[in-house]
Amino acid sequence: MTKLIGLLIAVAGLVAFPLVFDNPYYIHLGTTILIYTILLFGLDIVVGYTGQVSLGHAGLFGVGSYTAGVLMLKLGLPFYLTLPAAIIVTSFFGGLLALPALKVVGPYLAMVTLAFGTILQILINEMDFLTEGPMGITIKKPFIFGHEATEQEYFWMVALGMAIALIVVHRILKSQLGRAFEALRDSPVACDCMGVSVYRYKVYAFVISAGFAGLAGALYSYSERYISPNTYNNELTVLFLLAIIMGGRKSRLGAIIGAVIIVMLPKLLDDINLFRIVALSLAVLVTLGSILAVNRQISTPKKLAIPVIGTIGLALFSFWLNQITDWRLSIFGVMILLVVYYLQDGIVGFVRNFSGALQGSKSRTIDVSHLYGNNPLDVIQNAANHSGNGPILDVKKVLMQFGGLKAINNVDIRIARGTIHGLIGPNGSGKSTMMNVLTGIYVPTDGEVLFENNSVVGKTSSDIALSGIARTFQNVQLFGEMTALENILVGLHHTFKSTLLDVSLHLPRYKKEEQFARERAFGLLKFVGLDSLATEEARNLPYGKQRMLEIARALALDPNLLLLDEPAAGLTAPDIKELLAVIRKIRDHGITIILIEHHMEVVMSVCDQISVLDFGQKIAEGKPAEIQSNEKVIEAYLGGSAT
Ligand code: ADP
Ligand code: MG
Repeated sequence: MTKLIGLLIAVAGLVAFPLVFDNPYYIHLGTTILIYTILLFGLDIVVGYTGQVSLGHAGLFGVGSYTAGVLMLKLGLPFYLTLPAAIIVTSFFGGLLALPALKVVGPYLAMVTLAFGTILQILINEMDFLTEGPMGITIKKPFIFGHEATEQEYFWMVALGMAIALIVVHRILKSQLGRAFEALRDSPVACDCMGVSVYRYKVYAFVISAGFAGLAGALYSYSERYISPNTYNNELTVLFLLAIIMGGRKSRLGAIIGAVIIVMLPKLLDDINLFRIVALSLAVLVTLGSILAVNRQISTPKKLAIPVIGTIGLALFSFWLNQITDWRLSIFGVMILLVVYYLQDGIVGFVRNFSGALQGSKSRTIDVSHLYGNNPLDVIQNAANHSGNGPILDVKKVLMQFGGLKAINNVDIRIARGTIHGLIGPNGSGKSTMMNVLTGIYVPTDGEVLFENNSVVGKTSSDIALSGIARTFQNVQLFGEMTALENILVGLHHTFKSTLLDVSLHLPRYKKEEQFARERAFGLLKFVGLDSLATEEARNLPYGKQRMLEIARALALDPNLLLLDEPAAGLTAPDIKELLAVIRKIRDHGITIILIEHHMEVVMSVCDQISVLDFGQKIAEGKPAEIQSNEKVIEAYLGGSAT
């Protein structure tokens, strides 16, 4: 209900704005804010959700502007054709920008994307047969009902575009696509091993993001009525990134706030009186907030001293100044420093944390069970297919060499269908390396791995995962910023067939898939006893629960073979008991399990067959009782250190 009222107020505000501020200058500022907002929605997909840096978005913005401008100049196309064309052309360039992101990360990616933006700007400048070069292109506002749109009418058109962009981006980010973007940020390796190709979704993210930049660029060209190459420079690209950081990543409201800041800040720094008012209000707000925070013991005076002194200082300084022009850049720099240092989650994140802390750490756990009914779901669908003959997995003479080190040396292992197969050995004996070979993270130097009679060697991790091998990791690899339920939903990604169009329009196919996936995800949480923690962020779960969540997420893949890498490591005794029960339940569903474990009571009580590795070689194999009495195994492993 409050949401609906908020929405109505927002819509009324947008409709009323150009009527209230009946001045072309203010209306134009408002239009620019809305246009930047659209671009920031897109940039946030790349920066906030996939966690990649992009300094190429001003270039993409330019591509959008120039696509619209050139099509209008050369072909006289109307805006309802130039806008879609700008989106499509810019998306293509977004795909190009994604290519370096597949190879490099962090500062390197920042450099490459910066170069990409610069190249685009130079191209626009040089291709004067198309773009008129430095002369720029003069453009008329769109024609509606036979006349050129007024500033006011154009504001409404852009507001409509922004509203549509908001709905579309929000739907994308709440869907399986958005979850894939977040998953690849939090753990690329786990993302691939859940059948969600990091490669593919990074490209998608850049392409979709560029689509928004293209729309924004095209709208901008009509808004300015004149475009020239030097608008789309590196300063603008840094400003865009700053807007995301200041507003708050992973937030639509953050994008809006960011756009307001980058459009208004230069104006603010032009007008000394306005600057004084804002500096004073800021000082009052920060001081009152700090007093409140100290009172409620959310923070200490020591921590708050610098922001309080800083903002009061800024306010005093503003009254001491006679004119502002000489100080603009310095003030801008100081503000950026303060924001980047103190508001790392942006304004939206800060307010959220602050109000969350004020309300106390009330558990946000919501009981969602009523949403899903109580009928027993067949959550594990893939009760393994028993029709096949022979071993489910056949590892033949596998060699895995790292430089001179043979981490796995000529190992043969056959895993019988429907069994729990233990893999034990001292630390560094090659157990985890074997898992990585089986799941495509490493390509073996030599040898053959057959799963269901098909070779997995050379296949990508995500293809192997989709073929039915799921895994957990020795060092838990959850998607930390996502809830427990969302983590499982990433595992269920393979059940989605819906496209970008289904998602954007909320077509029945998508709605059905989402509903069904949520029911199953909840069922899987129940299966491992985590249903009451469905809405808790994975990184906030206790360690034992995190391990359980990882198992449930792996089951979401409907695997035939499940690889567990030291699932009991770091667990308490009661947790281990629970884990054992879950492992047995999984086996009873017909899923074959390979279990790496150091806890001998776990291994010996559930395994049907055990292989022992030492220095990369298989030194023994057999039933638990045989292994326990095997001389070689006792000497190499069980002897002193059986824990
Ligand atoms: P385990 O899981 O049995 O404790 P691992 O499979 O993790 O052992 O490691 C086996 C050996 O391979 C270790 O000596 C380890 O240092 C080495 N190793 C594993 N991965 C790599 C890698 N990517 N590069 C170089 N050496 C590696
Ligand atoms: Mg290991």
